[in-house]
Amino acid sequence: MSAPIVRFAPSPTGRLHVGNVRTALINWLFAQAQGGKFILRIDDTDLERSTQEYEDGLKVDLTWLGLEWAGTFNQSDRFAEYDAAADTLRAMGLLYPCYESADELERKRKIALSRGRPPVYDRAALKLTDDEKAKLEAEGVKPHWRFKLSGERVEWTDLVRGPQSIDTSSLSDPILIREDGSYLYTLPSVVDDIEAGITHVVRGEDHVTNSGAQIEIFRALGGTAPDMAHTPLLIGADGQGLSKRLGSLSMGELRAEGYEPMSICSLLAKIGTSDNVEARSSLEELAAEFDFAKIGRAPARFDEAELKNLNAAILHGLPFDAVKERLAAVDPRAADEAFWTVVRENCSLLPEVAAWVDTVFGDIAPMVADEDKAFVAEAAALFPAGEATGETWSAWTNAVKEATGRKGRALFMTLRKALTGQEHGPDMGAILPLIGRERALKRLGS
Ligand code: GLU
Repeated sequence: MSAPIVRFAPSPTGRLHVGNVRTALINWLFAQAQGGKFILRIDDTDLERSTQEYEDGLKVDLTWLGLEWAGTFNQSDRFAEYDAAADTLRAMGLLYPCYESADELERKRKIALSRGRPPVYDRAALKLTDDEKAKLEAEGVKPHWRFKLSGERVEWTDLVRGPQSIDTSSLSDPILIREDGSYLYTLPSVVDDIEAGITHVVRGEDHVTNSGAQIEIFRALGGTAPDMAHTPLLIGADGQGLSKRLGSLSMGELRAEGYEPMSICSLLAKIGTSDNVEARSSLEELAAEFDFAKIGRAPARFDEAELKNLNAAILHGLPFDAVKERLAAVDPRAADEAFWTVVRENCSLLPEVAAWVDTVFGDIAPMVADEDKAFVAEAAALFPAGEATGETWSAWTNAVKEATGRKGRALFMTLRKALTGQEHGPDMGAILPLIGRERALKRLGS
């Protein structure tokens, strides 16, 4: 196979979320695995809903994820090409004007359904004479334009779904151009895919039916249709669709919550595949493991709890240099290598270090029960001389055990709570040198 060229084609009408990022990622990984090219196409033919802000935002998000593109272009710069393609189709008799209003079409649809027939457009417009069309246009009725499907079966072997067969006689001829002259997505996408030499169209399975019509348009415009891969949609851990929750699953939100791009990519690359869901530290590793054959037909389950677990695993392996600046942004005191190495095991998300900054460097309220006060005071008196080191905790607790006879939880948990104000946390031997002798003694009440 020659090197593939794929594209990710978002509409800049909202933030990128886990659903469309999964499509971007699959395209990217496939291109990377095959030494191919990943192109970013901005589908902004809908001039009213598309905004520059969303376009900039999705580029920021893709860059943050590491999904770099080899080239990018906007559909809004290419209306002349779409007009030329429309003219070609008109000249071939494959794009025809229709004058029905939305109400009329709805009425036809209802009648067809009530007679038990599929609500397929009846092609009444094809029977209009030139005079009838001229009369309608003189009355100010503007046509919309439909592509004339062949009425035959369109077949392809989908890289995910296997053999596909779409009976175009069961479909309405798709509208390619609206009354106001604006393009629906169908034609521009094909024109661009031909011109960019796209070898594989990889997208969600909600586009399977479009593919039937688009393959016919590819053929009419003189190209061979690219290979196709339609991936199952995402569902939530509860088995429900994600559409209502996609706002909170946007890259902007996940980044603000502190998620690592590689935990998002690791999860989205593996759910719905035969591979285990495991953290990977680079996109290259994910690419090396990528294969369309591993993607199943069932919806892929996106579980936020699983995302958090992966995030924790990735975070625990991140060296200080990789997080230094983000730690400093959380709190200047967190930008400390020893601190990071000790507390990262106790964080699922990087911003959680904030709580440990207070535990280590701040003023905490020690947790000492009344009945433990005398014991804690006695322990304080036994605190080893000199600055606390990695040995201090064990030397000290041994001495306290010896002197007081306390052991186990009554010893260790009581001192942990007195020193950190919490029942859980990093290894005391490691955190004590960070707290330091002075603060430790203060917390112990002396
Ligand atoms: N803009 C389209 C979408 O987001 C692109 C679909 C395609 O990849 O062809 O659904």
